[in-house]
Amino acid sequence: MTTTVPRQAGETEPTRLSGLATRDLSAWFGAHKVLERVSLEMAAGQVTALIGPSGCGKSTYLRTLNRMHEMVRGAQLGGEVLLNGEDVYAHGRRPAEVRRRIGMVFQRPNPFPAMSIADNVASGLKLAGIKVGRDHREHLIEDSLRRAGLWNEVSNRLGTPGGALSGGQQQRLCIARSLAVEPEVLLMDEPCSALDPTSTRRVEETIAELRGRLTIVIVTHNMQQAQRISQSCAFFLASHDTPGRIVEAGPTEQLFSAPVDQRTADYVNGRF
Ligand code: ADP
Ligand code: MG
Repeated sequence: MTTTVPRQAGETEPTRLSGLATRDLSAWFGAHKVLERVSLEMAAGQVTALIGPSGCGKSTYLRTLNRMHEMVRGAQLGGEVLLNGEDVYAHGRRPAEVRRRIGMVFQRPNPFPAMSIADNVASGLKLAGIKVGRDHREHLIEDSLRRAGLWNEVSNRLGTPGGALSGGQQQRLCIARSLAVEPEVLLMDEPCSALDPTSTRRVEETIAELRGRLTIVIVTHNMQQAQRISQSCAFFLASHDTPGRIVEAGPTEQLFSAPVDQRTADYVNGRF
């Protein structure tokens, strides 16, 4: 389903809201199967949290969604990834275009440390091969920093190197860089794991602000965080001889208060 978000003052482009889904998605690294028939709907404009123990395939799953998985030598894939109902892996589809529409933020903030804050944000455009005029570039930098919740802290020092910011600010700078290309989906792989509680809270506020404006899929080990920020949740599990699968998925509230599977109950209550 596609809807158009109303423009806000100063915004040039309406952003398309697209849902994401996988059908029977399996993934391998060489002969090692790490995901088995994962089917999940990630609703447009909502926050979906992926939870589960280390090694169960959450990061791999995220990387299949925007075609980063195929960048690993020997990586294989089965099943489908659908962005707004269209197969992300359809023949003739360019991976770079998929990655522009589905952005990614990682656990460790990775701005270009010597590059200015402004250029860091604009680098997202450059990497995506998007050319814009100087006025529009400045507007996009401001708009992206505002949406990432960083504008008020950096507006008077846009020429400062990105590496001079605190860890939490660097993570929001990375979010701004992703937002500059106006993605429909933002994937976040444990974006707060390297941050202190205050910075974590700021990133959570940013996510809450972004909700409804784009589709967010976030991996987190923090059960309180999953409950605070997500509307839907999927619990992944693997064992030594079974690849990662979804044990249970549904509204976050339900997964935490009335899980259907005993393993989900054990995990969300910290008995794992
Ligand atoms: P999670 O994010 O849930 O901790 P991962 O997706 O990182 O899990 O890993 C799932 C499985 O895939 C693990 O067994 C891991 O060792 C394996 N794996 C991850 N990345 C690679 C890679 N680049 N090459 C080979 N195996 C990998
Ligand atoms: Mg991971």
